[in-house]
Amino acid sequence: MIFSKLLNQLIMKNLSETTAFAQKLIIKKSVTPNDDGAIKVLKKKLSKIGFKNIDLPFGSKKKNDLILNLFSINKSKKLNNKTLCFAGHTDVVPEGDCKKWKYDPFLGKVSGGKLHGRGASDMKGAIAAWIIACDNILKKKKLNISLALLITGDEEGVATNGTVKVVQYLKQKKIKIDHCIVGEPTNPNYIGEMIKVGRRGSLSFSIETIGKYGHVAYPHLAKNPVTSLIYICNKLNNLKLNLKAKNFPQTNLEVTSIDTGNPTSNVIPYSCKALINIRYNTRYNEKLLLKKIKASFSEVPCTVKLKIISSNKPFYTKSDKCLSLLEKSIYKVTKKKPTLSTTGGTSDARFIKDICPVYEFGSVGKTMHQVDENIDIKDLEKLQKIYEDLILSYNEIYGLN
Ligand SMILES: [Zn+2]
Repeated sequence: MIFSKLLNQLIMKNLSETTAFAQKLIIKKSVTPNDDGAIKVLKKKLSKIGFKNIDLPFGSKKKNDLILNLFSINKSKKLNNKTLCFAGHTDVVPEGDCKKWKYDPFLGKVSGGKLHGRGASDMKGAIAAWIIACDNILKKKKLNISLALLITGDEEGVATNGTVKVVQYLKQKKIKIDHCIVGEPTNPNYIGEMIKVGRRGSLSFSIETIGKYGHVAYPHLAKNPVTSLIYICNKLNNLKLNLKAKNFPQTNLEVTSIDTGNPTSNVIPYSCKALINIRYNTRYNEKLLLKKIKASFSEVPCTVKLKIISSNKPFYTKSDKCLSLLEKSIYKVTKKKPTLSTTGGTSDARFIKDICPVYEFGSVGKTMHQVDENIDIKDLEKLQKIYEDLILSYNEIYGLN
């Protein structure tokens, strides 16, 4: 293991700064909610290039929910300057079965033109790309804009002591951000393919039907909660959720579990529970959806209990000058015109959208959260160039104000 680490470091000598820095981050085993020194690596580099680091730990060691977060800023001396922020997370999802990986997931192995390891795509690669972009620029140039980074260690977990609290802190301290780029892996297949300009809402809930125990041979003496729940789930599956919203996929409902915990085939159980999630566009809201859901309850004989598990509103960032600058930078580097989309799961952009327009653009997400997660080194270099070009053009346009 030590030998392979040494060998890898030797190979590293010929790597670009971005790849080498991404590797430094991958080596830190920051499986959510652990940090393992990942934020420290960032702080060291950022203070070297003129950023001021503000540590923002939230949660407590006692409760075992302490999360390290970082807000770092390179302030321009220009009065009333604009701030362009990059948001990302250093935590990663667990590696799963290590034996299934071709290379150690926390080695940052470079092979076949790829940087391998947990977080390579989601999203240590993008963080490295942004920081090296800042470094390249600040070495040569004084900017009329401020550059900031909002980094959390709590994105892949419960996300209660991460970005949401940093955003609260920024609001309290009246620290202003004018635009934010989130470095999530937004490109499904190739770099330059997709910018996320919002996210669907997500409503997770359970429905429990309460019936009456009984022998299957005497169903008239019982009340079957399974029958009721199947009826309700069928109704929900057939709900018409076809209102369309620009750049949003179809609103969708999925039943993910139906369970009674009943191991027998001759007893009618007491209760049955379903878990359901709806991903919805901006034409819907929680109240409207709950009304549609509850409408099916009156048609069954059982008592029905509805419990909301989690609820996130949809959002959409309207196109502005910053978005067109991002599109231009992407085109300049990749010769691709990115699609504007709101597909995929939720991200921390949902918290940041409350303080400024937020766009998401990062690496290719093909291998994120998977065994053998990796990033193509050419793509990583392109991403760094895109970020660099964006910062420079943002400085040109917004630095004038
Ligand atoms: Zn991510």
